[in-house]
Amino acid sequence: MRFDVITIFPRLFKPFQEESLIQRALKKGLFSIVVHNLRDFTKDKHKSVDDKPFGGGLGMVMKVDPWYRALKSLKKKKKSKTILFTPRGKKFTQNMAHEFSKLDQLVFVCGRYEGIDERVADHLVDEEVSLGDFVLMGGEVAAMAVIESVSRLIPGVVGKPRFLQERLAKGKGRGGKGFLEYPQYTRPEVFEPKKGVRWKVPSVLLSGDHKKIEEWKRKQGRVIGK
Ligand code: SAH
Repeated sequence: MRFDVITIFPRLFKPFQEESLIQRALKKGLFSIVVHNLRDFTKDKHKSVDDKPFGGGLGMVMKVDPWYRALKSLKKKKKSKTILFTPRGKKFTQNMAHEFSKLDQLVFVCGRYEGIDERVADHLVDEEVSLGDFVLMGGEVAAMAVIESVSRLIPGVVGKPRFLQERLAKGKGRGGKGFLEYPQYTRPEVFEPKKGVRWKVPSVLLSGDHKKIEEWKRKQGRVIGK
């Protein structure tokens, strides 16, 4: 999998690539992230990417031509999708993450200002995706969220057992729907934040009865969309 991100703030992705599981997976070559600066695809002296909206309105709109050049310059792999982030897009879900993880390449269009000239959505991208019903300042955080959720489905990125466990939960008569996590606990069994107050771990988890534990986990977890 190769993630191509086009943004006017490429530096946001530097620390993102230098920590934790993402850093390890990139070093191992399990996937790659290539960040492109939209300003490199401008032609004017000031490298401007935005202009005033036709018809009036507040703020600035990203121009179509730098996006056109940026997107046309990219080498496309066979199974590739170009995603435009917008709060008006289809809401991102775990099922979408599974679909995306089967591709060879995802290209992310990260908007800023009041958004992007609609002709980019109409002619240059495959899908419009939203992270949820709220408005961000830009598409970069959305791109990072999608990279995290897709890349952890790539074998080897987060370690095998967990990956398999999730797949198992997914397959068990759940109509192929994704399975979201049950509550988890670790030591100590009882935590006493102050005298007389005891925060206990559910006793079923300490019972050693694997059948009961599995049942509890299934009940506590949530099937996506419910
Ligand atoms: N004027 C727009 C908001 C633009 S926010 C409106 O009112 O709807 C600027 C950019 O942030 C957008 O172009 C988009 O790329 C990104 N963005 C904002 N909210 C988002 C969301 N919920 N999901 C994905 N991207 C989002």
